[in-house]
Amino acid sequence: MSETLDTVILGSGCAGLTAAIYTARAGLKPLVLEGHEPGGQLSITTLVENFPGWPEGIQGPELIANMKKQAERFGASFALTHLLKADLGVYPYRLETSTGELRTHTLIVASGASARWLGLPSEQALIGHGVSSCATCDGFFFRGKEIAVVGGGDSAMEEALFLTRFASKVTLLHRREQFRASKIMLERAIAHPHIELRTNVIVDEVLGVDEKEVKGLRLRDVATGDLCELAISGMFLGIGHEPNAKMFAGQIDLDEDGYIVTTGNVLTTHNGVVVPGVFACGDVQDRRYRQAITAAGSGCMAALETEKFLEARGH
Ligand code: NAP
Repeated sequence: MSETLDTVILGSGCAGLTAAIYTARAGLKPLVLEGHEPGGQLSITTLVENFPGWPEGIQGPELIANMKKQAERFGASFALTHLLKADLGVYPYRLETSTGELRTHTLIVASGASARWLGLPSEQALIGHGVSSCATCDGFFFRGKEIAVVGGGDSAMEEALFLTRFASKVTLLHRREQFRASKIMLERAIAHPHIELRTNVIVDEVLGVDEKEVKGLRLRDVATGDLCELAISGMFLGIGHEPNAKMFAGQIDLDEDGYIVTTGNVLTTHNGVVVPGVFACGDVQDRRYRQAITAAGSGCMAALETEKFLEARGH
């Protein structure tokens, strides 16, 4: 078996990369397991306007690429692999990855959160055939077409606005009257001539399973129960995310929605007792703020705690 590592970082989004910059700069030679979605949520977003330091904004993928370059400059390594199983019952911790086994003295869990789906069989059957959760990845395929975006938060607004670059019309479907989105994003969507907002509707069925491409949606009015059809060629989900922490169930405390419970900002626990040397940062433990800058901040904290932990053990 290969040597035991000082630290392994799970996830390569904003939190993981910031942890990589700090631990690498401290000489800990971190190994970053890039995971299923390398670069995390920022790598599939467009303009980030609120990350301090870029007065004109910066494209999400560019911000991520810069962070990765910065971490590599200090000696971080990256592996295009993901965690299959963690054994926190042995020390050094044992990690089974898609490319082999690793042992590590510390673990920084920055595995983020993944897009949520409605869960309709017709939706699942048509993923990649007109159903998508990534406007930046798939928007291009809907040039000149009418599409729908589901959701009432900032992600839905951002997707709808972005998709107007391609689609001839975007119908935004939200299940309530009130929007969760920030005022500025909502106002931009309302003001856009190619976006129509429809409230109090849910998607009952995605039409086109037999044809293997989205032909429309059957919508249900939440108040009256009435059904109607909307002819569109694509449906984009912007309904939030699920934390990627299931693989730690039973070894690290998770809350009722599956987020990692942390104490002292980034320390993990098992049955309320701190798990030594295992830290969590970013969206996998943050149900409240979920911003690039807060993820980066907690990544920094996790790295500093890692350093402190190893130092106390004479590393
Ligand atoms: P969110 O704020 O949790 O919003 C999710 C939306 O999807 C809500 O409107 C929710 O409806 C709806 N939804 C959830 N499950 C649904 C279902 N099964 N069927 C229909 N609708 C459903 O998530 P988010 O928009 O991804 O934003 C997450 C965080 O990232 C927020 O803090 C946000 O500000 C931030 N963010 C910021 C930007 C930006 O500033 N550029 C861009 C994207 C995200 P209800 O309202 O009824 O619950």
